[in-house]
Amino acid sequence: MSQPSPRTLWEAVLGRLELQVSRPSFATWLRDTTGVSFDDGRMVVSTPSTFAARWLEQRMSALVEATLSQIAGRPSTVHFQVPGMPPGPGVGSGRSAAQSYGGDGYDSQADERPPARLRGDCALNPRYTLDSFVVGESNQLAYAAAVAVSSRPGMAYNPLFLYGGVGLGKTHLLHGIGHASASRGLSCLYVSSEQFTNDFISSIQTKRTREFREKYRSVDVLLMDDIQFLRGKETVQESFFHTFNDLHNANRQIVLACDRPTSALSPIEDRIRSRLQWGLSADIQLPAQETRRAILELKAQEMSSAVPVEVFDVLAERFAGSVREMEGALNRVIAYADLTGCTIDLDVARRALGDMLAAPPEPPPSPDALLTLVCNYYAVEVQAVVSKRRDRKVALARQVAIYLLRERAQLPLKAIGEMVGNREHPSIRQAWVKIQKDRQSDSTLDLQIRAICETLP
Ligand code: ADP
Ligand code: MG
Repeated sequence: MSQPSPRTLWEAVLGRLELQVSRPSFATWLRDTTGVSFDDGRMVVSTPSTFAARWLEQRMSALVEATLSQIAGRPSTVHFQVPGMPPGPGVGSGRSAAQSYGGDGYDSQADERPPARLRGDCALNPRYTLDSFVVGESNQLAYAAAVAVSSRPGMAYNPLFLYGGVGLGKTHLLHGIGHASASRGLSCLYVSSEQFTNDFISSIQTKRTREFREKYRSVDVLLMDDIQFLRGKETVQESFFHTFNDLHNANRQIVLACDRPTSALSPIEDRIRSRLQWGLSADIQLPAQETRRAILELKAQEMSSAVPVEVFDVLAERFAGSVREMEGALNRVIAYADLTGCTIDLDVARRALGDMLAAPPEPPPSPDALLTLVCNYYAVEVQAVVSKRRDRKVALARQVAIYLLRERAQLPLKAIGEMVGNREHPSIRQAWVKIQKDRQSDSTLDLQIRAICETLP
C-alpha cells in the first residue's frame, strides 16, 4: 500500500485534533497548518507564524505527537516551522524551547534565530510591539524613550540604554522599536550580544570580516540585547566599540539592553561605558500590581482567551517578581483549559499551576523594620540616617538601607526617597547603583549586607 502524502496524513491528524481541542484553539493554532514532509517518523508541519509554531511546540506537543503516532502507526515526532525560516528545536527533541533556553521560550528562541535585516522579512516577535507594551510607573521612562527613538531615530537619544531585571520587558521594547522603525522603512537589526559575538568569531574564522562590518554598520537602527554578555570578551568589545562609533558618527540609532546599569558594568571596557553614557539610560523596575494585571489582561486578549478577573488577581499577586514568569503561568492555565476543555476559573488555575500557586513567595520585609535593622547593624540612629548628616558611617548606613529597601523591600525609588529624609529620586538611584556595584568588588561590604539579610525576619 502506498504511503499517504504528508499533507493527507497531517489532514487526518487535524481531523482528529479538531475533536479534541476547543474550537477557538483549533481555529487559532491548527487550522492553517500544512503537512510538509514525513520521513522516518519525523513530520514537518508549516505554520503561518513563528509565534504559532512556538505555541504549538510548547503547548500541544504531547497531544499532537500522540495523535500522529496513532494515525501513522509508529512513534512519530512533529516539528513546526514557518516556511523559509530555520526550524525551532522541535517537539521531538525532548526539550521544550523553554527548557532549552531558560525563559518563556519565545524570546530566547528569537535570540537564537539568525539576525535578519528587517525590511520585508521579520525576525522580530510580532507580539512585541510598542502598542502591546503596558505602560506603568515602573517602565514609563523606558517606554517614552523607546517611542522617542522610534519616531526620531538617531536624533532623540543615542544610544538608548535600557536596563532592568530579568523578564521585565527589555526585549519586548527592543522589538517594539524594531517594528516601529521597520514600518517606517528603516533597516533594522536585532541581535543579542551573544549573536554578535558568534557572528564576529565566525567572520574571523571564515575570513569574512568585511561582510561582518558591512552587515552591522549599514543599518539605520541597531538593537542589541543583553550586552552584559560582552563581559570579559575583549576583542569582541573592541569590535563592538568600532561598530558603535561608526554607527554613532553616521547618526544611526543604537539601542542596547542590559540587566544592570552602565555603572555596574565594571568589567566592560571603560571606553564602551563612557560611550553608553552619551545617550540616555532608562531603567525598568518591577511593575506594580495594577500594571501586572493590565499586562495579563492584554496577554489573555492576544490569545483570545476568556479569563475571569479573579484569576488575573491571583496571578498578578503571586508572580510579582517577573512578568515573564507571570505570563508563563497564564499560558499554562490557558493551555490546561484548552486541552481539558474546561472554562477557566480559579479552580482550573489552581489545578493547572499546582504547587506554583500553593507556595507564595516570602513577603518582602517591612521597610521600617529593614531600616531599623540596618541602623542597628551599623550602630547609628535612624534619626541620623534620615537627617542631612554625611559623615562616613551614617552615609554608608544610609546607602545600604537604600539598597536593601530597593532590593529586598522592593520599594519604588521615590518612596525610598521619602523614607530617608525626603531625598530626591536621582540621589536615591545613585546610592542604590553604587552599593550594587561596590558589592561586587568590596567583599567586606558584601559580607555586611549578607549579615544584615540573614537577620531579616
Ligand atoms: P526581558 O528582556 O527584560 O528579560 P522580556 O522583554 O522578554 O523581558 O519580557 C518577558 C515577557 O513579559 C514578554 O512576553 C513580554 O511581552 C512581557 N512583558 C514584560 N513587560 C511587559 C509590559 N510592560 N507590557 C506587556 N508585556 C510585557
Ligand atoms: Mg530579554
